[in-house]
Amino acid sequence: MDVIKSAFIAIVGRPNVGKSTLLNALIGQKVSIMSPKPQTTRHRILGVLSEHDYQMIFVDTPGMHKGKDLLNKKIDQVAVSSLRDVDIVLFVVDRPMGTAESHIIEYFKQQSLKVFLCVNKIDELKNRSQIDEIILTYLNAYPFEGVIPISAKKETYLDRLKEMLIPHLIEGPMFFPIDMKSDQSEEMLMSELIREKILFHTEQEVPHAVAVVIESIKENIELNTLDVSAIIVVERASQKQILIGKNGEKMKNIGMEARKEINELLHTKIHLSLWVKVKKDWRNRPQDLKSFGYGEDL
Ligand code: GDP
Ligand code: MG
Repeated sequence: MDVIKSAFIAIVGRPNVGKSTLLNALIGQKVSIMSPKPQTTRHRILGVLSEHDYQMIFVDTPGMHKGKDLLNKKIDQVAVSSLRDVDIVLFVVDRPMGTAESHIIEYFKQQSLKVFLCVNKIDELKNRSQIDEIILTYLNAYPFEGVIPISAKKETYLDRLKEMLIPHLIEGPMFFPIDMKSDQSEEMLMSELIREKILFHTEQEVPHAVAVVIESIKENIELNTLDVSAIIVVERASQKQILIGKNGEKMKNIGMEARKEINELLHTKIHLSLWVKVKKDWRNRPQDLKSFGYGEDL
């Protein structure tokens, strides 16, 4: 087996700080969906960055937050358990330290983790002294291995971030094939891309109430397309109404945008059919959570 340098690197932080954006920018492909809505990332997602002499395996985590329903509890467990068995942590922040951030730092202390502080969204800050002000609020809280300002969205200083990590990689085997960028199956990536489009088109309680399940994928040899059928699960008839929209406009847009991205992802022409189904209280039913894809990674 080839010996190279590698590490498992968890990307951790409050919801919405830009963890998934950072993962995708580092990998150069959308492996984790992004949106301004909370609860966008529900799973633990691996993104693999391979060079000829090293492999960085990034672990995107759902943001840590206290939720009441069973889905939220599962999401929190995924976030916390992702910290086990990693070699390095990237702690992503976008503001001065507050209670949410210090709560996360408690986890680092419990496990004496090797943590790098990444101050993200510097494109939104006016000058260097604003960055320094944020950094200063963290320095006494934990013995960070390194501190780096970045913009995940604009891809600023990401090369510097990688270079900072290289000396901390550990000699070991290649964990993943060199062309593998994610541990997500094509089916999971498809359902996540559909969910991402739904998040962009809906507000308030709807994004939380949605799950997407790929029902079937069939090769259409005649038309040289892939026929994908997906079910969008919501909790109430009113949410179904919102999703479908006036004259089905909203669902049409969601379908068009999702199809475009899935085409690009798979380099194949897709025919996408979306069906909306109401399933009362699915977020609190263990059997439903499981069949909609939540829980296996625990
Ligand atoms: P996560 O919940 O931590 O995974 O955050 P996401 O990656 O889903 O991003 C949340 C929001 O922050 C999205 O709207 C992103 O476009 C935005 N965002 C992420 N990184 C940056 C950045 O570097 N600059 C700015 N201005 N916005 C960012
Ligand atoms: Mg995320």
